[in-house]
Amino acid sequence: MQAPPGLGPLHRVAVGLVLALLALGGCERPPAGPADDRPLVVTTTTMITDLARQLAGDRVRVVGVIPPGLNPHTFEPTPDTSVLFRKARLVLYNGLHLEGKLVHMFEGLGPRAVALAEDPRIVVRASEWPQGAPDPHVWWNARHFMVFTEKARDALIALDPDGAETYRRAAARYLAELETLDGRIRQAVARIPPERRYLITSHDAFYYYGAAYGLTVDAVLGTSTDASPLPLRVQELARLVVQHRIPAIFHETAVSESLNELVSRVMAQAAKDGQPVMIPPEPLYSDSLDVPGRPAGTYLGALRENTRIIVSALAGEDVRPLLQGMPGSPATVPAPGPAESPDGR
Ligand SMILES: [Zn+2]
Repeated sequence: MQAPPGLGPLHRVAVGLVLALLALGGCERPPAGPADDRPLVVTTTTMITDLARQLAGDRVRVVGVIPPGLNPHTFEPTPDTSVLFRKARLVLYNGLHLEGKLVHMFEGLGPRAVALAEDPRIVVRASEWPQGAPDPHVWWNARHFMVFTEKARDALIALDPDGAETYRRAAARYLAELETLDGRIRQAVARIPPERRYLITSHDAFYYYGAAYGLTVDAVLGTSTDASPLPLRVQELARLVVQHRIPAIFHETAVSESLNELVSRVMAQAAKDGQPVMIPPEPLYSDSLDVPGRPAGTYLGALRENTRIIVSALAGEDVRPLLQGMPGSPATVPAPGPAESPDGR
């Protein structure tokens, strides 16, 4: 959740809550009354909610249960959530234990529930911390999200065969956009001098992004925010910053202020040790998109915004024109690689 610059943490939380509530009222609630007889598709994360809407348009009723700005690791279901899952004709979720408190609800739904991240085409790493747990943040590699797209498309066709042509067309267009952006991100990250390609954040949500686009990733907390930070992490990360003269480290949206505060402590410790490091005023989107209508209110928008913020902080260059493919920018050269093997690299 992004707040206007200059607001303190409490104000930022307040703005975030208001925006989340607006999003709930404006977009997430199913329309009242019996008039809407479209099939109900229930989604979990904001990334998956956006994907379902991109593919289905108005053909189905998409209801996302986790509002923008809330954390899927710790999101607690309400009685409304259980009713939605029961009524859903299709549930699209991430899986790999991302939605830790919802997992029991997916059980028993059978083929009505589809885990988009669980697929042989996506190579999942076991996280070091929590030990051995699968790292669920696969979506920040655009090629992994292409797998999400194909699986969501196929599930929608199975649900509503009359709409098959609509879903196929929308998916083909969206897959092409993903592939183009994937190439542009590679070009944008290549603008960062190699010795500065470090991405240090609040929790370990960017391993797949770093692996795909060429950044070494580290974080104060492991792959779930539902854990406590190890006591020595702040000092270890400060040492890394000093050793590699890393110019910037990053806060995230949708994590607690206290977790972002630990990143601020890394900054303070590194400065004390002789390496001034900055934290950009705009946090990265890790486990949630912004509210619809904002630049990071879609998956594609958030991926662009994250890359813009990262490259700007580490290389001092505005890559917005490149990421948007504006005429005259290097992004007009063709994106590399075929789309058929989105294997994570
Ligand atoms: Zn996470």
